[in-house]
Amino acid sequence: MTTTLNRDFKEIRSRIQSAHRILITSHVRPDGDAVGSTLAFGLALQEAGKDVQMVLADGVPRALRHLKNSEKIQKKPSGVFDLIVVVDCSGLDRVGTALDEYPKPDLNIDHHITNLNFAHINLVESTTPSTAEMLARYLPQWGLEISQIVAEALLTGIITDTLGFRTSNVQPQTLRTAAALMELDVDMPKLYTKALHERSFEAVRYWGAGLNHIEMENQIIWTTLSNADREASNYPGKDDADLVSLLASVDGAVVAVIFIEQPNGMIKVSWRARPGYDTSKIAAQFDGGGHKAASGATIEGALDDVKKQVITATQMLTQ
Ligand code: AMP
Ligand code: MN
Ligand code: MN
Repeated sequence: MTTTLNRDFKEIRSRIQSAHRILITSHVRPDGDAVGSTLAFGLALQEAGKDVQMVLADGVPRALRHLKNSEKIQKKPSGVFDLIVVVDCSGLDRVGTALDEYPKPDLNIDHHITNLNFAHINLVESTTPSTAEMLARYLPQWGLEISQIVAEALLTGIITDTLGFRTSNVQPQTLRTAAALMELDVDMPKLYTKALHERSFEAVRYWGAGLNHIEMENQIIWTTLSNADREASNYPGKDDADLVSLLASVDGAVVAVIFIEQPNGMIKVSWRARPGYDTSKIAAQFDGGGHKAASGATIEGALDDVKKQVITATQMLTQ
């Protein structure tokens, strides 16, 4: 496990205590951990009397807008800050436009194995399943209180990054942390259902397009979602509506890959793998990153060309 030095830990605490204007941001196409960690850290700081801006360049996805105070998250920061914090994010390019006008971040709190240590202080734990779990542990040590609303945001991050406590990196500590958050009057089953179970009619129709042309070879399963598929199903997002998790559940498939054509001509690729397979190495070959079991990259090129290149590279894992 990568942990920061104790010296850094004390420095983080004193920087938080002395800061007045604080910016918190996370990665583009934010997931439950990005939104939950941004919101939890931001709200805990606000409750401690700080002037905080929470920023996600792509905004909050519809499926996470039930989180209390999520409407406070802006798409752009304004003004100056004496502390800039990036959570759940492995590289500066992953914040999108959020920090375009700003200096190097002061603090990065993250759990990606591919983290580039891009801030002045980097607190990176690659074996902790979510950034939210790190924050649940550390916020009280930094003098911040975990209120009911903060707990709701943290628990959402933990639930979503562990796919409902079933990823292979879940530890007893993860469940203890989740239980402690539940005790703060948080409706865990409701958060679970909202974040992981409910989906729109359009999302399922979009899945149908992808499921129509799935392929499987050498224990690798994959499919594509084109701009036309998205338009035909009226799906509003630019992601895969988590179809990749369904592919990854197929018997005999150890690695799942999905290719999502983007309106700007790029191809978003997501990998998911069973324990024992490291997809982050393959993603890194395409300037992406992530975790062994879940990684991503955004690649320039035509859908069919990118698919060929990526499947060939991914086959290294199973041959
Ligand atoms: P996704 O496939 O977008 O659901 O992402 C899976 C995991 O890989 C998440 O932890 C992401 O933060 C990470 N990830 C996705 N795309 C990239 C990228 N281009 N660079 C670095 N990490 C990424
Ligand atoms: Mn994330
Ligand atoms: Mn995460």
